This record gives sequence, structure tokens and C-alpha cells, in this order.
Amino acid sequence: MSLSVDLQIPNGHSYEQPTGLFINNEFVPATGATITSLDPATDKPIATVHAASAEDVDKAVDAAKAALAHPSWKLLSATERGQMMARLADLIEQNRELLASIDAWDNGKAYHVAYEEDLPEAIGTIRYYSGWADKTFGQTINTTPQNRPDHPLELPLSMATWKLGPALACGNTVVLKPAEQTPLSALVLGKLIVEAGFPPGVINIVNGYGRDAGARLASHPLVDKVAFTGSTGTAREIMKMAAGTLKNITLETGGKSPLLVFPDADLDQAVKWSHFGIMSNQGQICTATSRIFVHRSILSSFLADFKKAVEGVTIGDQWDASTFQGPQVTRAQYERVLAYVETARSEGATILTGGAAHVPTKAENQNGYFVQPTVITDVTDSMRIVKEEVFGPVVVILAFDDEDEAIRRANDTTYGLGAAVFTRDIERAHRVAAEIESGMVWVNSSQDCDPRIPFGGVKQSGIGRELGEAGLEAYSQVKAVHVNMGTKL
Ligand code: NAD
Repeated sequence: MSLSVDLQIPNGHSYEQPTGLFINNEFVPATGATITSLDPATDKPIATVHAASAEDVDKAVDAAKAALAHPSWKLLSATERGQMMARLADLIEQNRELLASIDAWDNGKAYHVAYEEDLPEAIGTIRYYSGWADKTFGQTINTTPQNRPDHPLELPLSMATWKLGPALACGNTVVLKPAEQTPLSALVLGKLIVEAGFPPGVINIVNGYGRDAGARLASHPLVDKVAFTGSTGTAREIMKMAAGTLKNITLETGGKSPLLVFPDADLDQAVKWSHFGIMSNQGQICTATSRIFVHRSILSSFLADFKKAVEGVTIGDQWDASTFQGPQVTRAQYERVLAYVETARSEGATILTGGAAHVPTKAENQNGYFVQPTVITDVTDSMRIVKEEVFGPVVVILAFDDEDEAIRRANDTTYGLGAAVFTRDIERAHRVAAEIESGMVWVNSSQDCDPRIPFGGVKQSGIGRELGEAGLEAYSQVKAVHVNMGTKL
């Protein structure tokens, strides 16, 4: 199998897609397996890339380990390291259209969203952490190779930068494993890494399957830290594997985040943000506010407006500028979402709108993985549709009668990633924000995210924080050096 393929993206971009493993600044073949990436809007193959075996992962880890000790990285001043990262951010910016096009094609998200939201986040994150490179004084430069068996399928490139930014700022070396559903843009990033001047082995990118490449990384004796983004179930496995050599871990996992609408809220704002909070990105958002609790006194108006908002969106392929909702990322995910809707039906819930596959008008999209945005009511707190993460454009809306009850039910979950509260009462906003068990709370908003602000979950939504200054802690170690300055008595 070759190490690159010429591709033409449906929006007209032509480019050379690397398909090998990126190890020591070179694209190299894997020993056997492959991953074929499909366009979720058409079900047609885009490209086949090499998939790392356990032995291939070992080579990437060895490269990272060697780079850590090599003078070209070890003796590079922190300021120069920061400049190199800033160059990488500039190169990503120069290739913004191409990278947004690849992510849209591979992942199914609308191109305008990838271009306007994801790429600025990726560029901003690397640029933000480039500034930290020479400001982590008071600590020695970390001496651990990093790795990231990762699931960046919702925002493939930008999620990768959440790990690369702080890891590189602290002087680590990295082995990055992208999600198998979206293997392409990370390999193009490999080309930019060489161009930015990073020494060989500092950043290695191995596509591969979780059970092979992911498991090897999580248990590899030379890997000191694992930063994982994905489901809570896989995170449990990773934690067990990492226990073998007591690895430091960061876990960013699933959620079933609550959004509370109090009677004094601005209803238009509440509808607008609660719609965005679950329906954007095809509902494939770990922090999706997928349980909406509305005060009973305003429930009927909220439901009417929310239904209107849901039914007003355009569902289509990635390339249509009016597309709000694209296809789910994989057929498996599409089937899973529809199965959850069936479960809700069989549990006695009401499907207020949606509840089935969406059949697009364009002939080429007939086999795409489109589902109707779905609103479910008449649910009880114990139903599976209320308890479990769907990871799709499906929301449950529940009524509450008072603040204590709303908080108690919002907290009645094993997850704790995001939460939102809509009220014009500033005291209530703070009171509820303090009581909700989650890593992040949005007041009168949903899904705000910024590289300068820490991101992460409590309970079974994760361990540790990414982004902001807090994100550096995961990639650095404090060392105490005791020096006897004279003759001790
Ligand atoms: P997943 O757990 O199935 O896969 C995630 C990654 O883990 C993939 O790269 C996969 O190759 C790897 N993997 C799978 N099995 C493995 C194993 N045994 N050993 C090592 N690696 C393994 O996740 P998914 O279903 O693809 O993603 C959806 C989930 O990700 C949702 O739960 C979502 O909430 C979560 N998510 C969380 C965040 C966050 O920041 N908290 C962000 C995005 C997604």
C-alpha cells in the first residue's frame, strides 16, 4: 500500500493525503492492518490509511523516547520551543480551508462550522500554549514521553491540539492516536509539524484501532502519561491498563449534562441556547446539554418554541452553506441513535418531533447517516433515554416545580461534565452553579469553550482538566531539589 494518495474533496480542493504512520518526521508503512475512512454523507470511501499494530506503536514510543533525550529537543530553549509552536499555529492557519474541508468530509460536520469554529479553536489553542512555553518557571522540564489514545471524532483536529498544546509547551514528546473514524487531518498536520521545524520523534501520529494501538499505548511501559478523550466505558479499560505501570492519566469522557430553565429566564435566549446546546454538531458533543429541565409554569411555551427551533433547521451534507445538521459520524453511531429513540418509545415516552432517519433530497446523500433531530417528552428520571448518553441530536425535556428539586434531579446522574442554568436572578445563578455537580457551568448559555478556561468533568465524566493554566499540570511534574548550601550541623 502506498504512503499517500491524491484526493479531490467535493468542495473542489485537491491535495496529497498522507496515509502512513507518522514516526520520526517520516511517513512509514504499518505492518498490516488498514482503516478505510468513509464520507458519512454518502457512505462512500474517502481513503484507506495504515493502521498501527502493537509493534508499530512500540516504534512510535521508541521515537518519542529518543527525541526526549536528543539535544535538538532537550537543549532547545523554552522560548524557541514556543516559537516553533507559534509557527505550527501559523501553518495551521495558512491551511485553514484545507484542514476544515478534510475534517468536514471525514467527520460529516458542516464545512462552515469546521472553518468558523473548529479551526480557530485549534489555531487558538496551539498559539495560547506557545505563549506558556517559557512561562512555566519554577518547574523542571518534564522528562516523560506522552501519549494520547484519543477520540477526536467530533472535532478531529481541534481536539488533538488540546493535548499537543500543553504537552509541547512543557517540553514533552508525544504519540498521538486519532480516532479510527477520522484518521485524515492529523496526518496532514504531520506535514505541517515537519515544516514548523520540530525535531524528528517529538510528535508521532499513529492511526489504529483501539483494541490494538490504543491498548498498547495505554499499557506501554515507556509511556508515563495517557491523556484520553472518549467514552466512559473505554476510559475504565484505559485506567486499568495504565495501572500496570502507575501512569499519570487524564480522562475526558462522556456526559448527560443538565440545562435548567427557571421561570424568570429570557425565554428566547433559553430556547436558542438550549437548542444549540444539544443539536449543534449533530448532537455529537460530550458536553451536550441533553437533559433540559423546564419550570412547569413555562413548559408549554418552551416546548412550542423549542419544537419550532428544531423543525426550522436545515439537514444536509457538509458542503451546503445552509446546513445546520449533517450526518452522524458513522453508520454504527446512526444506528445507535435510532435504537435509543426506539427504547424511549418502548419505555412509554412521547416523541414530540423527529424520531426517525432523515431522508435527504440529494440523490448522492441517500445512503448517508442522517437522523431527524428528536425531542422526547413524558419521560421519567429512571428511563434509559434520561440516564444514558446518546451522543446524537436527541434531547429529553422534563418539568420541575422548585429549585431544590431541579438541582437534585440534575445531579441524579453518574456523569458530571457540563451544566447550564437560565435565570435573570444573579443570586440564583450563583447558588445553582455552586450546587450542580459538574466541571463546567454556563449561565444563560451553553457550550462556551475557550483555550484559556479549564475544561473537564467530575464523577464519571473524567479525571483532570484540559486547557488554561490548569491544563499544564497534566503535562508537568514538580520536583523538589534540596541543596545543602553549607555545612549542616
Ligand atoms: P470510544 O471510547 O469508543 O473511543 C475513543 C478512543 O478510544 C478511540 O480512539 C479508540 O480507538 C480508543 N479505544 C477504544 N477501545 C480501546 C481500548 N480497549 N484501549 C485503548 N483505546 C481504546 O469513544 P467514541 O464512542 O468513539 O466517542 C464518543 C464518546 O467520547 C462519548 O462518550 C463522548 O462524550 C466522549 N467525548 C468526551 C469528550 C470530553 O472532552 N469529555 C470529548 C469528546 C468526546
